[in-house]
Amino acid sequence: MPRKSRSKPAAARPRRILLAGGAGFLGSHLAERLIGEGCEVICLDNLQTGRLGNVAHLMSAPRFSLLRHDIGQPVTVEGPLDEVWNLACAASPPQYQRDPLHTFRTCVQGSLHLLELAKEKGARILQASTSEVYGDPEVSLQAEGYRGCVNTWGPRACYDEGKRAAETLFYEYERQGVEVRVARIFNTYGPRMSPEDGRVVSNFVRQALMGEPITLYGKGTQTRSFCYVDDLVEGLARLMRSEARGPVNLGNPGEFMVRELAELVLAMTGSDSPLAYEPLPQDDPRQRRPDISRARAELGWEPRVALREGLERTIAQFREEVAAQPRRVAR
Ligand code: NAD
Ligand code: UDP
Repeated sequence: MPRKSRSKPAAARPRRILLAGGAGFLGSHLAERLIGEGCEVICLDNLQTGRLGNVAHLMSAPRFSLLRHDIGQPVTVEGPLDEVWNLACAASPPQYQRDPLHTFRTCVQGSLHLLELAKEKGARILQASTSEVYGDPEVSLQAEGYRGCVNTWGPRACYDEGKRAAETLFYEYERQGVEVRVARIFNTYGPRMSPEDGRVVSNFVRQALMGEPITLYGKGTQTRSFCYVDDLVEGLARLMRSEARGPVNLGNPGEFMVRELAELVLAMTGSDSPLAYEPLPQDDPRQRRPDISRARAELGWEPRVALREGLERTIAQFREEVAAQPRRVAR
């Protein structure tokens, strides 16, 4: 099928971007970066897990606008678009499991709507996919060629299978001439994660600062690889502007047991919070570590911020936010 005529960024106008999920944790950092590059950013978000406070500092920028909308509904935008970034989807397990059908619809119907828009506008579109497409991996280093081990009907399936189906849609639209980029993002953390969202870094840091028990699910021997947000945003930006075809893993190959993370957070915060062991959630992946050879080769990218350094910056921001808050329940 012929490619639609691409609306070239006119020299006279800044690159015009639709950023879905722009009020979320990653989206707000990306918005900041794109505004800093001189782009016009239309931030689209339903504020399900996003927070206005994440983009409050951008509101006065002349090239930033916020559109409150759910991508489960068709998306229309007046005027040209050069890029569409799809980051819209709750990423924390307790959040995406709260309304599983909405999560699945966001991944599938939402992606369809954004792909249609990209096709109509001749825009390049990037999908924030996830290491969850590998499910509970049977291999210790996950490369893009690994096809995964996903339970199709468990409580995580609304997200994992939703994201897998979204990848299918992206590559079907690519076959129709749309320029797509797919990032498989591994656990990313940093300032502006919501202290309430239930992910491991935000939980542990908040719990340590509040003097609450650190909730370790299972024995805490499952592993994750934690990427600092600035590294991730750099990887996403490089991928969008690259010629990389096929999905690209973006994450930090450093692998830690969840228990090690708890101990590090306790040491760095000087907290005396006790460890509280809780049941391991169903289908919780036992290990996760990205093979980033493709990102290194095709994007010249690799993470630069070590876990300890990234945690320092995260703890500093959480201290400001959490110190003023009353005690809360973890999950
Ligand atoms: P987040 O929950 O902080 O942000 C998601 C944003 O999308 C929020 O602002 C939310 O309000 C918005 N949103 C959700 N559903 C929507 C819908 N139907 N319509 C419009 N807006 C909607 O999560 P995050 O960590 O910033 O993740 C951003 C993206 O990156 C997600 O797509 C997620 O799946 C992906 N990802 C993140 C990680 C990570 O570790 N942070 C890892 C893998 C993939
Ligand atoms: N986890 C934990 N305590 C918490 C939150 C999470 O032990 O308070 C564990 C969780 O079971 C998983 C890992 O930490 O093994 C990462 O969880 P998260 O929700 O951050 O992301 P996931 O990689 O599971 O999507």
